[in-house]
Amino acid sequence: MTESLAAAIWVLGLVAWFAIRFPYRRRARRIGIARAERTLSERLLLPVATIGLAVIPAIYVATGIPAFADYQFRPWMGWCGLVVEILFLALFHVSHRWLGRNWSVTLEIRDGHRLITDGPYRYVRHPMYSSFWLWAIAQALLLPNWVAGLSGLVGVGLLYFGRVGAEEAMMQKSFGEEYRDYAARTGRVIPRIF
Ligand code: SAH
Repeated sequence: MTESLAAAIWVLGLVAWFAIRFPYRRRARRIGIARAERTLSERLLLPVATIGLAVIPAIYVATGIPAFADYQFRPWMGWCGLVVEILFLALFHVSHRWLGRNWSVTLEIRDGHRLITDGPYRYVRHPMYSSFWLWAIAQALLLPNWVAGLSGLVGVGLLYFGRVGAEEAMMQKSFGEEYRDYAARTGRVIPRIF
C-alpha cells in the first residue's frame, strides 16, 4: 500500500458514496413531506459535515495543502483504511436499501412514513450515521495529514451530536410508543447484537 493508492481509495469511496445516494435523492423529490424539522442548526450541520468529509480532504488530495500538517504514511494504516472504507460503503448501501422511500437528507417525516425496524435497523437505530463514523475513521487512516485526516471526524461528530437527539424526538412524536419500544431494544450507533 502506497500513499497515492490510499488517496485513490479515498477518492473512489467518495465517488461510490455519491453513486449509492444519487437514486435515493432523486426519488425523494417525488415523495411528499408530512413534517419537516428544518431548524437553523439542522441547516448548518450538513454543509459543515460536507466540508469535513469532502471539501478539506479533496483539497488535500488534489494539492497537498495543508502540507505543514503532513506526517509519515504507514502502509498498515492504508490497509486498515481500505477495510474500514469497504465496511462504510456496505453499511451505507444497506441502510439506504432498508430505509427506502422513508429516507431524507434532513429531518423529515414522509407521507405514509413507516418505522423501519428490520435489516440493520433491527440492531441499531442509526446505521447510516454509524456508516458516517466509519467513513470518517477511514479518512483518518487513509490520509496522513492531521487536518485533512481528522476533519471528517470533526464534521461527523458535529452532525451526529447536533442531530441525533432532535431526530429521535421527531420519531418519538410521530411513532409514540412504537418508537419508544424500538429504542429500548436497539443500540443508538453501535449495534446491539445480543
Ligand atoms: N438516522 C437514520 C436515518 C438517517 S436518514 C440512520 O442513521 O440510519 C434521516 C431520516 O430517516 C429522518 O428524517 C427520519 O425521518 C428517517 N428515519 C430515521 N430512523 C428511521 C426508522 N427507523 N424508520 C424510518 N425512518 C427513519
